[in-house]
Amino acid sequence: MEQELQSLKQLALLELSQADNMDALNELRVKYLGKKGSLTSALKGMGALSAEERPRIGQIVNDIRSELENIIQTKSEGFKQADLERKLASEKIDVTLPGRKVNVGHQHPLTVTLVRIKEIFMRMGFAIAEGPEVEQDYYNFEALNLPKDHPARDMQDSFYITEEFLMRTHTSPVQVRTMQAAVPNQPIRIIAPGKVYRRDYDATHSPMFHQVEGLVIDKNISFADLKGTLELFIHEIFGKDVGVRFRPSFFPFTEPSAEVDISCVMCSGGGCRVCSGTGWLEILGAGMVHPRVLEMSKFDPEQVSGFAFGMGVERIAMLLYGIDDLRLFYENDLRFLKQF
Ligand SMILES: [Zn+2]
Repeated sequence: MEQELQSLKQLALLELSQADNMDALNELRVKYLGKKGSLTSALKGMGALSAEERPRIGQIVNDIRSELENIIQTKSEGFKQADLERKLASEKIDVTLPGRKVNVGHQHPLTVTLVRIKEIFMRMGFAIAEGPEVEQDYYNFEALNLPKDHPARDMQDSFYITEEFLMRTHTSPVQVRTMQAAVPNQPIRIIAPGKVYRRDYDATHSPMFHQVEGLVIDKNISFADLKGTLELFIHEIFGKDVGVRFRPSFFPFTEPSAEVDISCVMCSGGGCRVCSGTGWLEILGAGMVHPRVLEMSKFDPEQVSGFAFGMGVERIAMLLYGIDDLRLFYENDLRFLKQF
Protein backbone atom coordinates (compact mmCIF):
# COMPACT_ATOMS: atom_id res chain seq x y z
CA MET A 1 0.00 0.00 0.00
CA GLU A 2 2.72 2.46 0.95
CA GLN A 3 4.63 1.53 -2.18
CA GLU A 4 1.59 2.22 -4.34
CA LEU A 5 1.06 5.61 -2.70
CA GLN A 6 4.68 6.62 -3.25
CA SER A 7 4.54 5.77 -6.95
CA LEU A 8 1.21 7.57 -7.27
CA LYS A 9 2.87 10.64 -5.76
CA GLN A 10 5.86 10.39 -8.10
CA LEU A 11 3.55 10.19 -11.10
CA ALA A 12 1.50 13.12 -9.85
CA LEU A 13 4.60 15.26 -9.30
CA LEU A 14 5.86 14.45 -12.76
CA GLU A 15 2.56 15.31 -14.41
CA LEU A 16 2.20 18.48 -12.41
CA SER A 17 5.68 19.62 -13.41
CA GLN A 18 4.66 19.19 -17.04
CA ALA A 19 1.34 21.08 -16.72
CA ASP A 20 1.92 24.39 -18.52
CA ASN A 21 -1.51 25.98 -18.39
CA MET A 22 -4.54 26.40 -16.17
CA ASP A 23 -6.67 23.81 -18.01
CA ALA A 24 -4.03 21.08 -17.67
CA LEU A 25 -3.61 21.96 -14.01
CA ASN A 26 -7.35 21.70 -13.37
CA GLU A 27 -7.48 18.31 -15.08
CA LEU A 28 -4.74 17.04 -12.77
CA ARG A 29 -6.49 18.45 -9.73
CA VAL A 30 -9.55 16.38 -10.63
CA LYS A 31 -7.48 13.35 -11.54
CA TYR A 32 -5.67 13.14 -8.17
CA LEU A 33 -7.67 15.12 -5.64
CA GLY A 34 -11.22 15.04 -7.04
CA LYS A 35 -14.11 13.01 -5.60
CA LYS A 36 -13.24 10.13 -7.92
CA GLY A 37 -9.51 10.93 -7.94
CA SER A 38 -6.69 8.43 -7.37
CA LEU A 39 -5.88 9.68 -3.87
CA THR A 40 -9.50 9.55 -2.80
CA SER A 41 -9.80 5.96 -4.03
CA ALA A 42 -6.68 5.08 -2.04
CA LEU A 43 -8.32 6.43 1.11
CA LYS A 44 -11.38 4.28 0.45
CA GLY A 45 -9.14 1.22 0.14
CA MET A 46 -7.93 1.72 3.72
CA GLY A 47 -10.79 -0.36 5.12
CA ALA A 48 -8.79 -3.47 4.23
CA LEU A 49 -5.82 -2.42 6.39
CA SER A 50 -5.08 -3.55 9.91
CA ALA A 51 -5.86 -1.25 12.86
CA GLU A 52 -2.13 -0.49 13.44
CA GLU A 53 -1.45 0.34 9.81
CA ARG A 54 -4.50 2.51 9.24
CA PRO A 55 -3.32 5.74 11.01
CA ARG A 56 0.14 5.54 9.48
CA ILE A 57 -1.15 5.11 5.92
CA GLY A 58 -3.81 7.78 6.56
CA GLN A 59 -1.02 10.16 7.55
CA ILE A 60 0.87 9.38 4.35
CA VAL A 61 -2.23 9.98 2.20
CA ASN A 62 -2.87 13.31 3.92
CA ASP A 63 0.77 14.39 3.50
CA ILE A 64 0.67 13.60 -0.20
CA ARG A 65 -2.66 15.40 -0.54
CA SER A 66 -1.42 18.59 1.05
CA GLU A 67 1.84 18.50 -0.90
CA LEU A 68 -0.08 18.19 -4.18
CA GLU A 69 -2.51 20.91 -3.13
CA ASN A 70 0.36 23.26 -2.40
CA ILE A 71 1.98 22.64 -5.75
CA ILE A 72 -1.34 23.15 -7.57
CA GLN A 73 -2.00 26.36 -5.62
CA THR A 74 1.43 27.80 -6.39
CA LYS A 75 1.28 26.87 -10.06
CA SER A 76 -2.26 28.26 -10.34
CA GLU A 77 -1.16 31.63 -8.93
CA GLY A 78 1.77 31.65 -11.33
CA PHE A 79 -0.56 31.09 -14.31
CA LYS A 80 -2.92 33.84 -13.15
CA GLN A 81 -0.07 36.30 -12.77
CA ALA A 82 1.33 35.42 -16.19
CA ASP A 83 -2.13 35.79 -17.69
CA LEU A 84 -2.54 39.25 -16.16
CA GLU A 85 0.86 40.33 -17.43
CA ARG A 86 0.02 39.09 -20.90
CA LYS A 87 -3.24 41.10 -20.83
CA LEU A 88 -1.53 44.23 -19.56
CA ALA A 89 1.00 43.96 -22.33
CA SER A 90 -1.51 43.30 -25.12
CA GLU A 91 -4.23 45.73 -24.01
CA LYS A 92 -2.01 48.71 -23.50
CA ILE A 93 -3.87 51.98 -24.16
CA ASP A 94 -2.47 53.94 -27.04
CA VAL A 95 -2.91 57.51 -25.86
CA THR A 96 -1.84 58.83 -29.24
CA LEU A 97 -4.98 57.47 -31.00
CA PRO A 98 -7.53 60.14 -31.97
CA GLY A 99 -10.53 60.30 -29.59
CA ARG A 100 -14.00 58.98 -30.47
CA LYS A 101 -16.30 61.76 -31.60
CA VAL A 102 -19.22 62.38 -29.25
CA ASN A 103 -22.37 63.64 -30.95
CA VAL A 104 -23.59 66.72 -29.16
CA GLY A 105 -27.24 67.58 -29.65
CA HIS A 106 -28.70 71.04 -29.80
CA GLN A 107 -32.07 72.68 -29.44
CA HIS A 108 -34.84 71.88 -31.90
CA PRO A 109 -35.59 74.75 -34.32
CA LEU A 110 -39.06 75.10 -32.76
CA THR A 111 -37.53 75.49 -29.30
CA VAL A 112 -35.05 78.04 -30.62
CA THR A 113 -37.93 79.99 -32.17
CA LEU A 114 -40.04 79.77 -29.03
CA VAL A 115 -37.15 80.99 -26.85
CA ARG A 116 -36.68 83.98 -29.18
CA ILE A 117 -40.39 84.82 -29.01
CA LYS A 118 -40.41 84.57 -25.22
CA GLU A 119 -37.30 86.73 -24.88
CA ILE A 120 -38.81 89.53 -26.95
CA PHE A 121 -42.03 89.64 -24.95
CA MET A 122 -40.28 89.28 -21.61
CA ARG A 123 -38.21 92.35 -22.47
CA MET A 124 -41.53 94.18 -22.91
CA GLY A 125 -42.60 93.16 -19.41
CA PHE A 126 -44.75 90.14 -20.23
CA ALA A 127 -44.91 87.23 -17.77
CA ILE A 128 -45.21 83.60 -18.92
CA ALA A 129 -48.47 81.80 -18.09
CA GLU A 130 -49.31 78.17 -18.67
CA GLY A 131 -52.43 76.02 -18.69
CA PRO A 132 -53.47 72.38 -19.12
CA GLU A 133 -53.46 70.69 -22.53
CA VAL A 134 -56.52 68.61 -21.66
CA GLU A 135 -58.98 71.43 -21.23
CA GLN A 136 -62.59 71.89 -20.24
CA ASP A 137 -65.01 72.90 -22.95
CA TYR A 138 -65.85 75.89 -20.75
CA TYR A 139 -62.33 77.39 -20.89
CA ASN A 140 -61.59 76.35 -24.46
CA PHE A 141 -64.83 77.73 -25.96
CA GLU A 142 -67.61 78.90 -23.70
CA ALA A 143 -65.76 81.56 -21.66
CA LEU A 144 -64.22 82.84 -24.90
CA ASN A 145 -67.64 83.75 -26.28
CA LEU A 146 -67.93 80.50 -28.24
CA PRO A 147 -71.13 78.97 -26.88
CA LYS A 148 -72.13 75.44 -27.90
CA ASP A 149 -73.38 75.35 -31.52
CA HIS A 150 -71.38 78.47 -32.40
CA PRO A 151 -70.36 77.96 -36.04
CA ALA A 152 -66.79 79.17 -35.36
CA ARG A 153 -66.22 75.99 -33.33
CA ASP A 154 -66.15 74.10 -36.62
CA MET A 155 -62.93 75.87 -37.63
CA GLN A 156 -61.26 74.18 -34.71
CA ASP A 157 -62.62 70.65 -34.76
CA SER A 158 -60.64 68.93 -32.09
CA PHE A 159 -60.02 65.73 -30.16
CA TYR A 160 -62.65 65.27 -27.48
CA ILE A 161 -61.89 63.16 -24.41
CA THR A 162 -65.48 63.33 -23.15
CA GLU A 163 -68.35 65.74 -23.84
CA GLU A 164 -66.78 68.18 -21.38
CA PHE A 165 -63.05 67.63 -21.90
CA LEU A 166 -60.97 68.01 -25.04
CA MET A 167 -57.39 68.55 -26.17
CA ARG A 168 -57.23 72.35 -26.22
CA THR A 169 -57.52 73.78 -29.74
CA HIS A 170 -55.69 77.00 -28.90
CA THR A 171 -53.79 78.62 -26.04
CA SER A 172 -56.63 81.12 -25.54
CA PRO A 173 -58.12 79.25 -22.54
CA VAL A 174 -55.03 80.40 -20.63
CA GLN A 175 -56.41 83.96 -21.06
CA VAL A 176 -59.57 82.94 -19.22
CA ARG A 177 -57.70 81.01 -16.52
CA THR A 178 -55.35 83.97 -15.96
CA MET A 179 -58.24 86.45 -15.70
CA GLN A 180 -60.21 84.24 -13.33
CA ALA A 181 -57.18 83.72 -11.08
CA ALA A 182 -56.46 87.47 -10.99
CA VAL A 183 -58.03 90.24 -8.96
CA PRO A 184 -60.75 91.69 -11.26
CA ASN A 185 -59.76 94.87 -13.12
CA GLN A 186 -56.10 94.60 -12.09
CA PRO A 187 -53.53 94.83 -14.90
CA ILE A 188 -52.50 91.64 -16.74
CA ARG A 189 -49.62 91.27 -19.18
CA ILE A 190 -48.89 87.65 -20.11
CA ILE A 191 -47.91 85.39 -22.94
CA ALA A 192 -48.99 81.75 -22.86
CA PRO A 193 -46.82 79.42 -24.96
CA GLY A 194 -47.77 75.78 -25.38
CA LYS A 195 -48.97 72.82 -27.41
CA VAL A 196 -52.40 72.80 -29.03
CA TYR A 197 -54.31 70.12 -30.96
CA ARG A 198 -56.54 70.08 -34.02
CA ARG A 199 -57.84 67.52 -36.45
CA ASP A 200 -55.66 68.59 -39.40
CA TYR A 201 -52.73 67.06 -41.20
CA ASP A 202 -51.02 68.44 -44.30
CA ALA A 203 -47.93 70.42 -45.34
CA THR A 204 -48.95 73.43 -43.24
CA HIS A 205 -51.07 71.75 -40.52
CA SER A 206 -50.19 69.20 -37.88
CA PRO A 207 -52.52 67.55 -35.33
CA MET A 208 -50.22 68.97 -32.64
CA PHE A 209 -48.57 72.33 -32.95
CA HIS A 210 -47.42 75.25 -30.83
CA GLN A 211 -49.00 78.60 -30.18
CA VAL A 212 -48.09 81.67 -28.23
CA GLU A 213 -51.04 83.56 -26.83
CA GLY A 214 -50.79 87.10 -25.53
CA LEU A 215 -53.09 89.07 -23.24
CA VAL A 216 -52.82 92.61 -21.96
CA ILE A 217 -55.48 94.18 -19.74
CA ASP A 218 -55.27 97.56 -18.07
CA LYS A 219 -56.95 100.94 -17.97
CA ASN A 220 -57.01 102.76 -21.33
CA ILE A 221 -55.55 99.96 -23.45
CA SER A 222 -56.29 100.81 -27.09
CA PHE A 223 -55.76 99.35 -30.53
CA ALA A 224 -52.69 101.60 -30.77
CA ASP A 225 -51.10 99.59 -27.93
CA LEU A 226 -51.91 96.39 -29.80
CA LYS A 227 -50.34 97.71 -33.02
CA GLY A 228 -47.27 99.08 -31.27
CA THR A 229 -46.63 95.88 -29.34
CA LEU A 230 -47.03 93.56 -32.33
CA GLU A 231 -45.06 95.79 -34.71
CA LEU A 232 -42.19 95.89 -32.23
CA PHE A 233 -42.34 92.11 -31.87
CA ILE A 234 -42.36 91.53 -35.64
CA HIS A 235 -39.46 93.90 -36.23
CA GLU A 236 -37.48 92.24 -33.47
CA ILE A 237 -37.95 88.73 -34.82
CA PHE A 238 -38.02 89.29 -38.60
CA GLY A 239 -35.92 92.46 -38.84
CA LYS A 240 -36.61 96.18 -39.09
CA ASP A 241 -37.21 96.17 -42.85
CA VAL A 242 -40.24 93.86 -42.76
CA GLY A 243 -43.55 95.54 -43.61
CA VAL A 244 -46.51 94.99 -41.25
CA ARG A 245 -50.17 95.11 -42.24
CA PHE A 246 -53.35 94.77 -40.18
CA ARG A 247 -56.42 93.37 -41.96
CA PRO A 248 -59.92 93.31 -40.44
CA SER A 249 -60.97 89.81 -39.44
CA PHE A 250 -63.30 87.94 -37.10
CA PHE A 251 -62.67 86.05 -33.87
CA PRO A 252 -65.49 85.46 -31.40
CA PHE A 253 -63.36 86.56 -28.44
CA THR A 254 -62.06 89.86 -29.83
CA GLU A 255 -63.78 92.95 -31.24
CA PRO A 256 -62.50 94.46 -33.42
CA SER A 257 -60.31 91.65 -34.71
CA ALA A 258 -57.42 91.68 -37.13
CA GLU A 259 -55.16 89.35 -39.05
CA VAL A 260 -51.59 90.57 -39.04
CA ASP A 261 -49.50 90.13 -42.18
CA ILE A 262 -45.81 90.73 -42.82
CA SER A 263 -44.28 91.50 -46.18
CA CYS A 264 -43.11 88.23 -47.73
CA VAL A 265 -39.71 87.24 -46.36
CA MET A 266 -38.95 85.21 -49.51
CA CYS A 267 -39.62 87.85 -52.18
CA SER A 268 -39.59 91.02 -50.02
CA GLY A 269 -43.11 91.82 -51.17
CA GLY A 270 -42.63 91.33 -54.91
CA GLY A 271 -44.88 88.27 -55.08
CA CYS A 272 -43.81 84.62 -55.19
CA ARG A 273 -45.09 81.07 -54.72
CA VAL A 274 -44.78 81.21 -50.92
CA CYS A 275 -47.01 84.28 -50.63
CA SER A 276 -49.25 83.18 -53.55
CA GLY A 277 -48.15 86.26 -55.47
CA THR A 278 -49.63 88.69 -52.94
CA GLY A 279 -46.35 89.83 -51.38
CA TRP A 280 -47.85 89.31 -47.90
CA LEU A 281 -47.81 86.48 -45.36
CA GLU A 282 -50.32 86.08 -42.57
CA ILE A 283 -48.55 85.42 -39.28
CA LEU A 284 -50.94 86.05 -36.41
CA GLY A 285 -54.42 86.94 -35.27
CA ALA A 286 -55.22 89.66 -32.76
CA GLY A 287 -57.86 92.04 -31.51
CA MET A 288 -59.32 93.97 -28.60
CA VAL A 289 -60.68 91.62 -25.92
CA HIS A 290 -64.45 91.28 -26.42
CA PRO A 291 -66.39 93.03 -23.58
CA ARG A 292 -68.35 89.84 -22.99
CA VAL A 293 -65.12 87.85 -22.49
CA LEU A 294 -64.06 90.43 -19.88
CA GLU A 295 -67.46 90.27 -18.18
CA MET A 296 -67.54 86.48 -18.06
CA SER A 297 -64.28 86.57 -16.11
CA LYS A 298 -65.53 89.34 -13.75
CA PHE A 299 -63.61 92.19 -15.37
CA ASP A 300 -65.57 95.40 -15.95
CA PRO A 301 -65.36 96.57 -19.61
CA GLU A 302 -66.33 100.08 -18.43
CA GLN A 303 -63.17 100.28 -16.32
CA VAL A 304 -60.55 98.29 -18.20
CA SER A 305 -59.86 97.17 -21.74
CA GLY A 306 -57.36 94.83 -23.29
CA PHE A 307 -55.93 93.22 -26.36
CA ALA A 308 -55.07 89.64 -27.17
CA PHE A 309 -53.12 87.91 -29.90
CA GLY A 310 -52.17 84.40 -30.94
CA MET A 311 -49.48 83.08 -33.23
CA GLY A 312 -48.29 79.70 -34.46
CA VAL A 313 -44.70 78.95 -33.54
CA GLU A 314 -44.28 76.53 -36.47
CA ARG A 315 -45.45 79.20 -38.89
CA ILE A 316 -42.90 81.69 -37.59
CA ALA A 317 -40.09 79.10 -37.56
CA MET A 318 -40.93 78.14 -41.18
CA LEU A 319 -40.67 81.79 -42.27
CA LEU A 320 -37.50 82.42 -40.24
CA TYR A 321 -35.68 79.39 -41.63
CA GLY A 322 -37.32 79.10 -45.07
CA ILE A 323 -38.90 75.68 -44.36
CA ASP A 324 -41.72 74.74 -46.74
CA ASP A 325 -43.20 71.66 -45.02
CA LEU A 326 -44.28 71.82 -41.38
CA ARG A 327 -44.15 68.04 -41.01
CA LEU A 328 -40.33 68.16 -41.20
CA PHE A 329 -40.31 69.51 -37.63
CA TYR A 330 -41.67 66.24 -36.25
CA GLU A 331 -39.94 63.59 -38.37
CA ASN A 332 -36.73 63.59 -36.30
CA ASP A 333 -34.65 63.34 -39.45
CA LEU A 334 -31.12 64.31 -38.44
CA ARG A 335 -30.34 65.50 -41.96
CA PHE A 336 -32.99 68.17 -41.41
CA LEU A 337 -32.33 68.94 -37.75
CA LYS A 338 -28.56 69.26 -38.15
CA GLN A 339 -29.06 72.31 -40.36
CA PHE A 340 -30.08 74.48 -37.44
ZN1 LIG B 1 -43.42 86.14 -51.61
